[in-house]
Amino acid sequence: MKRTIEDYDLNGKRVIIRVDFNVPISDGVIQDDTRIKASLKTINYAINNNAKVILLSHLGKVKEECDLVKNDLYPVSVRLGELINQKVMFSSKTRGSELEEIVNSLQNGDVLLIQNTRYEDLDGKKESSCDMELAKYWASLGDIFINDAYGTCHRAHASNVGIAKCLPNGIGFLVNEEISKLDSIMNEETRPFVVIMGGAKVHDKIHVIENLIKKCDKLLIGGGMAYTFLSVKGLSIGKSIVDLDGYDFAKGILDKYSDKIVLPVDHVVSDSVDGECRVVNINDTLDNEMGFDIGPLTIERFCLELDGAGRVIINGPMGMFENEKYQNGTKSIYDFITLHHIKTLVGGGDSASSVNKLSDASKFYHISTGGGATLEYLEGKVLPGIEVIHEK
Ligand code: ADP
Ligand code: MG
Repeated sequence: MKRTIEDYDLNGKRVIIRVDFNVPISDGVIQDDTRIKASLKTINYAINNNAKVILLSHLGKVKEECDLVKNDLYPVSVRLGELINQKVMFSSKTRGSELEEIVNSLQNGDVLLIQNTRYEDLDGKKESSCDMELAKYWASLGDIFINDAYGTCHRAHASNVGIAKCLPNGIGFLVNEEISKLDSIMNEETRPFVVIMGGAKVHDKIHVIENLIKKCDKLLIGGGMAYTFLSVKGLSIGKSIVDLDGYDFAKGILDKYSDKIVLPVDHVVSDSVDGECRVVNINDTLDNEMGFDIGPLTIERFCLELDGAGRVIINGPMGMFENEKYQNGTKSIYDFITLHHIKTLVGGGDSASSVNKLSDASKFYHISTGGGATLEYLEGKVLPGIEVIHEK
């Protein structure tokens, strides 16, 4: 078990919290403040426990001078102030006397947001390459370090791994929830353990499939990903997307785990995304047709496997759910899961948005927010931002 913010006495301490404020901003206006809201539990806990709160976050990528203005964190300090109902101080510099003066002036319960950590990437990628001089400097501004930026836990940067090496440390509420739910769904003993994978490409998910297929009882493959597997099996799939880079891998997995893998038997096809569509058995697909969603027989087959499942992991939608015509497969699977209260964790950026669009996220065991971090976790990798944190 990793140490958490609750394991420390924060009273009067300068607590550096690495948060994920990487929100979409256009022309200085925040388009979606979900990530700011997600960090409030940890920030409010620190305020209520009389800490001097120092927040660090990245925002976008900073490669050249013009990225500085575009990725200025100032608007986030204003929005955060509204959400916590108190003024949030802002340092426009990532180091130097202006920043140090604000830190020295902090009273218990005050909150300071430091400028985008990736401003330090402009000069030699200091943040992203985990420059230890920079990490030590930031660490010198605080007494305790808390990592609550789950979305960057798969990266070793100065503002998460670097500082953690220099200070007593722990994780915040958000990271704690993510890793304890992921640990629980991956490692508990309830069976059958069913994994549903979809999305567009096989290649991006090779390591996830490799890791999960060993552990699960059934792997249901839908979405665009299924066509590479169906094509390996010699079925006619028309012009549906096949991932040539994942072809040999799919063949190997099918040979080795044929008893675990369930593939679509029918699908919704059309000659173009916007064309007329029809439902056909896979083998009746015409040469000029493409599959965009799983069909009713496949939904029935998948639900049969889900019925009575002890736990489920979903990564990747069952069809091109962004288009109303092709969301039935993904929605039907979610409806079955929520109706039968099946313990389900959803990981992946598009998968999470498909749940929010088509279902009720609160009825799922967990919707994981960190795209890359969650995928690397599902690959069985150790996340460096978490590994560096002290055990209890
Ligand atoms: P995640 O972000 O959850 O890991 P992916 O990025 O792997 O998921 O896949 C999501 C994308 O896959 C969506 O944009 C969806 O439109 C696409 N997709 C799903 N099924 C198909 C299909 N049959 N043909 C083309 N694209 C598909
Ligand atoms: Mg995606």
